[in-house]
Amino acid sequence: MKCFDADKINEVFEDEKRQAVSGVAYAALSAAQNRINHLPDLGAGKRGQWIMRGIIPFCSECGERAPLKEARSGWNGYKKSKSCPECGAKMANYDR
Ligand SMILES: [Zn+2]
Repeated sequence: MKCFDADKINEVFEDEKRQAVSGVAYAALSAAQNRINHLPDLGAGKRGQWIMRGIIPFCSECGERAPLKEARSGWNGYKKSKSCPECGAKMANYDR
């Protein structure tokens, strides 16, 4: 997952809106910009923990399964990563 600076994203939209060739294009860019600005802030310090169900850890915040460990061959289990790759929550009980 990539995180972006919201101010930079708005600069990109404002730049594209200045170059919009029609009112329809301008309105579509404005609508997309508005939607992006209302997405949840993943960098806002959300915290969670890996909850074990059997041998599988799940994110306490979004319910996503932990990522698989890197394995050269065969099964190597799940990695309790430092943050949830799905929702970005910082995990209290990650594998060190
Ligand atoms: Zn999550």
